[in-house]
Amino acid sequence: MSAAQDGGETSTHSDTPELTAPDISPYRKGNSDIPYVTTWESGQPGPHVMVCALTHGNEISGAIALDHLFHNDIRPVQGRLSLVLANPTAFGLFDPKNPYRSRFVDEDMNRLWNAQTLSQDIRNVERLRVQALRPLVDSVDLLLDLHSMQSGNRPLFLCGPSEKGRRLARSLNMDATIVADMGHANGTRMRDYGRFNTPGDSRNSLLAECGPHWHPGTAKIAIQTTYRFLHAAGSIASETAAPHVGSGKVSDRWVEVTDRFIPKTETAAFDEPFIGLETIPTAGTTFAREGGQDFTTPYDDCVLIMPARHLAKGQTAVRLGRWRAFPGPHDA
Ligand SMILES: [Zn+2]
Repeated sequence: MSAAQDGGETSTHSDTPELTAPDISPYRKGNSDIPYVTTWESGQPGPHVMVCALTHGNEISGAIALDHLFHNDIRPVQGRLSLVLANPTAFGLFDPKNPYRSRFVDEDMNRLWNAQTLSQDIRNVERLRVQALRPLVDSVDLLLDLHSMQSGNRPLFLCGPSEKGRRLARSLNMDATIVADMGHANGTRMRDYGRFNTPGDSRNSLLAECGPHWHPGTAKIAIQTTYRFLHAAGSIASETAAPHVGSGKVSDRWVEVTDRFIPKTETAAFDEPFIGLETIPTAGTTFAREGGQDFTTPYDDCVLIMPARHLAKGQTAVRLGRWRAFPGPHDA
């Protein structure tokens, strides 16, 4: 199969962490009733902006970005700014020798964010933490949730299905691929919680997949994304952001996710070691097999988004999408 790669680079990264987990213990006390939550009030009207890291306990690049904000004494010039370390319990289990283990303790924290799930009478580490964070998130206008991923070199901005999500992602002027998706079938992400996807509502959110787990470049992208987000939100001045934002690039296209491949067994395998953002030119090309069945691309120029390195029953193995153009400056 010939597949064009968006972004050029084709190498994959090892599972050996090249990043050191920061010490987050100074942030435990914070300044609210919730551990590992710090909220700064500007005293001026403006949105409540939240930057969240460690929704997945082993995705330490986000924690490095928050650590950077704390060390630089970043404060909002308008509205409120909340800095949240979402799953410190899982993070506390981070072991560089087995870094996949500490994604969560009991349950994926990024599949719990809807009222129905949270009304279930189940108590575990992640559900208790989501319940504790929920009143805060209910008051958030603009959310940035920092993540990293199993493979792929190019950052992805997962902006949800609504036009306002794409607009927010694009407003960061960052060299990242904007991906519009509906989230997961097996639970709701924080970025899809409440009214974040409701058209016409001013609340908005962005999930940034900053690069491969535990790679130094991923922490750099997490920092740049965070400062760009805070500047786009009006929380910080351009001179505060400028030293930390890298070079910009306005996206002229985005990926609309249309399908997902979710294995039904533990026997599924990809046809090639995909790393993500491959564009497969011809409809009907086999990209995966499971139990004698071929899975094929539904249309020409199908883009593979975030292929898993370890395919598992019931977990999204890859999303399929098509490129869409943003309106040009004259036809917006
Ligand atoms: Zn994640």
